[in-house]
Amino acid sequence: MPIPPAKHCRIRKNSYNSRVVQNEDTRYTHAMNYVVQKSETAEIPGFDDLDLSPVMRRALKHAGFEKPSPIQAQLIPLALEGEDVIGQARTGTGKTAAFAIPILEQLDPLEECRDPQAIIIVPTRELADQVGRETQMLARGVPTEVAVLAGGKDIKRQLRQLENGVQIVVGTPGRLHDHLQRRSLRTDKVWCVVLDEADRMLDIGFRPQIERILRKCSKDRQTLLLSATLPPTVRRLAETYMQEPVVIDCCDKDIAVDTIEQRYFTVSHDKKLELLERLLERENPKQAIIFCRTKRGTDRLYRQLSRTYPACGSMHGDLAQRERDRVLQQLRDDKLQILVATDVVGRGIDISTISHIINYDMPQDCDDYVHRVGRTGRMGRDGIAFTFVVPGEGDSLTSIEQRINKQLKRDHFEGLDPPAAVQLAPKAEETVKKAAPKLNPMHRKVTRRRR
Ligand code: ADP
Repeated sequence: MPIPPAKHCRIRKNSYNSRVVQNEDTRYTHAMNYVVQKSETAEIPGFDDLDLSPVMRRALKHAGFEKPSPIQAQLIPLALEGEDVIGQARTGTGKTAAFAIPILEQLDPLEECRDPQAIIIVPTRELADQVGRETQMLARGVPTEVAVLAGGKDIKRQLRQLENGVQIVVGTPGRLHDHLQRRSLRTDKVWCVVLDEADRMLDIGFRPQIERILRKCSKDRQTLLLSATLPPTVRRLAETYMQEPVVIDCCDKDIAVDTIEQRYFTVSHDKKLELLERLLERENPKQAIIFCRTKRGTDRLYRQLSRTYPACGSMHGDLAQRERDRVLQQLRDDKLQILVATDVVGRGIDISTISHIINYDMPQDCDDYVHRVGRTGRMGRDGIAFTFVVPGEGDSLTSIEQRINKQLKRDHFEGLDPPAAVQLAPKAEETVKKAAPKLNPMHRKVTRRRR
C-alpha cells in the first residue's frame, strides 16, 4: 500500500486548548507528519468534560478514577470521533482506559451482535489478563462479554466463549492468529482494532501475525495504536494499516518518570549477592522486583533468597502459564514481598504497590531498563530503582543515562566497592553532559542519530 502523502494528514485542534505543532523530526515526513501535543498551559479536563455516558461516569467513579490522565484526556475524544490515533505514552500512564472507554461507549449490545466488535492485541499473556480485567471493570453497569484469548490458556474454554458470543476480544498475536485459522474468531463485525505496546510486539517478532489480523478486519475499521516509542518499524506498520492517523505525544521529556529515584552500585561479580542482601536489609522494601538476565540466574537467585525471605517468588518464561498467573496474583494480593524475574515481567504489568526495582543484572538494552523501572512509580506514586554495574558494564550504564537524559545517583556500601579501575561515575557523568543537548523529542538514541 503506498504511503499517503503529507497533505493527507489531518491536523486537528481538540477541544481543550491543545496546540498543534509540526514534528521536529523531519526525517519522517510522510503519513504522520504532525503531532498533537499537550500544551504546557492546557488544563486537563475532567471526565465530565469528555462527553461520556452516565453509566460510564458511574463506573469511573466506582473505580476511583477522578481525573483523566493526559493520554486519556487526549485519546478518548478523538477515538469517540472515529479517528485513527497513534498514542505515544509510556507504561503506567492509563493507556488501557484510554482505549477501553471509547470502545465500551460505542459497543452494540450482545443481543444485537454476537460477534466480536473490537480486538485488542497485546504482547504478553499477563498483559492480556490485565487489560481484560480493567476493561471488565470499566464496563460496570452494562453487561459486557470480554474474552481473553491468550496463549498458554485452555483453548477449549476460549472456543466455547467465542461460540457463546463476545463483544470485545483481548489477546496475544499468536493465539488470536490461531483462532483466525480455526475460523473460531470472526472479524466481519470488528469496527475497532487496538495495538497496545506496538513497539514491544514488533520487537518480539509478532509482525506477521499482527498484519494477518489487521488484513482480516474491515478496511473501514478504526485503528488505535499505543506505543512507548515510535521506531521506524512501528511507523511503517502505521503507514500501511492506519488511515490518516492523528499522533498524540504524551511522553514526558524524561522517559523515566520523575517520581522514580534511580541509583546504581558498582560491584564486582563475586560480591553481587552480598550487595543485594545488604541492600534488602537496608531498604526493607514493601514489594520489590529483582531482575535477572537469564532463567537459570533467576532460579539460582530465587533459591538463595528464599532461605532468608520466605515471601519470595520467581517468574520467567519457562514456568507454566498457571504458575505465572499464580505468582502474579500472590504479588497483587501482597503475599509476596520479593519477586525475582526475567524481563517477562518487565513490560505492561501493573501492580501499584511495587516500591523497589533492583536490576541485579544490567538490562540488555535501554528499552528494557525503562520498562523494568516503570514497574514502580505507577500513576505518580513514589518508587526507587537500583542497578548493579559490574566491571565492563560502564558503557551500558552510560547508554541508559543518555537514553533517559538523566544521571543515576551513585550509592555504595562500606567494603563492597570494587577496585578503583571499575569506578564508573566520572566517565558516565562526562558523557551524559555532552550528550544531553542532542537528545531529541522522540527520545531516539543519540548513538543511532550519530550513525
Ligand atoms: P498502562 O496501560 O499505560 O501501562 P494502565 O492502564 O495499566 O497503564 O494504568 C495503570 C493503573 O492506573 C491501573 O491500575 C489503572 O486502573 C489506574 N488508572 C488508569 N487511569 C486512571 C485514572 N484516570 N485515575 C486513577 N487511576 C487510573
